[in-house]
Amino acid sequence: MSNSITDTIRTAIGNYPDPETGRSIESMGQIRSIEVQGECVEIELALSSHSMPIKEDFVDAIESRIAAAAPGTKTNITLSIHDRPPVRLGQIALRAKSVIAVGSGKGGVGKSTVAASLAVSLQRLGSKVGLLDADVYGPSIPQLLGLSGRPAVNANKKIEPICSKSGMPVMSMGFLVEPDQAVIWRGPMLHGSINQFLGDTNWGELDYLIIDMPPGTGDIALTISQAIPLAGAVVVCTPQEVALLDAIKAISMFRKVNIPLLGMVENMSGFLCPDCGKTYDIFGRGGAREKAEQSNVPFLGCLPIDISLRTAGDEGELDQVITNDERARAPLEGVAKAVVRQIVAQASAKPNQSSLPVL
Ligand code: ADP
Repeated sequence: MSNSITDTIRTAIGNYPDPETGRSIESMGQIRSIEVQGECVEIELALSSHSMPIKEDFVDAIESRIAAAAPGTKTNITLSIHDRPPVRLGQIALRAKSVIAVGSGKGGVGKSTVAASLAVSLQRLGSKVGLLDADVYGPSIPQLLGLSGRPAVNANKKIEPICSKSGMPVMSMGFLVEPDQAVIWRGPMLHGSINQFLGDTNWGELDYLIIDMPPGTGDIALTISQAIPLAGAVVVCTPQEVALLDAIKAISMFRKVNIPLLGMVENMSGFLCPDCGKTYDIFGRGGAREKAEQSNVPFLGCLPIDISLRTAGDEGELDQVITNDERARAPLEGVAKAVVRQIVAQASAKPNQSSLPVL
């Protein structure tokens, strides 16, 4: 009896795709155990830290497969970590599984806030994350996360990134120039510094490298796309028509340099008044979802204007607010999960492109 239930469950879930690679969890050795204990079937499954942000989706999908195959069975699923290190990306030494560029058509729409929040949220949800501030003309990541100091060069001639309070490696031009100094770049210097940030920084092993791109122009996007394959770009915009038009230009820029679009985020989408609880649509609302549909780009979610995000950014405490304030955190985590779901969809569409050996 118990053997047949175990077999039924194994058959039902064995070919479910691992979210990271798109290959079956059975072939990847991720079904650790299935044991019948009294009334209940105890199942241990392993998931890589890359997939941890969407672990609830995974467990829900497995539970529905079991419910369909063995109705009435009580199951208890526990997750353990499937240790699967990243391979080297491109020709450089960067070891990261998914590199995500966060861009916008113009400045001031909250691109850096979204990039930093995405990195912090993915790390909080269980992944290994690094954050590269490639907005060399206006690096604001150090300010948003309250980071300062000069990156040291280690014995292997690698640049040591500055670590956030939660241990996330961060690299920014802001660590290398004085805050009040303008940075004047010629093309080749820009190209060289970005490649150094990517390949000569001691990032360690990452699930996600989030890159805060400069707004508008395509030269840095081109440099990065030539150095490494990207999982894709997230385009941030506000709901106003002018910002949306610029966002469409950003989408076409990413398409020109062959960076896939993971989706659009509508930032500053309505203001929830903390005193009266009423929502005011200061810049309008919903425009990005419409533009995303028209441009055939996924929509990743809306982020309201939240005073706590603005003050936290000014005080260098963006990560603390995300950790401590549920209301601020929820929409940001929603966007982070939506981004991972897009990456998962890419993997399941092309399971054989993963560089992992099949077990
Ligand atoms: P960008 O990178 O597009 O230039 P920033 O991320 O630097 O924009 O944001 C510009 C300003 O807007 C910052 O002061 C930031 O704190 C604030 N801001 C961004 N998003 C929000 C939001 N959802 N709610 C409140 N303030 C925000």
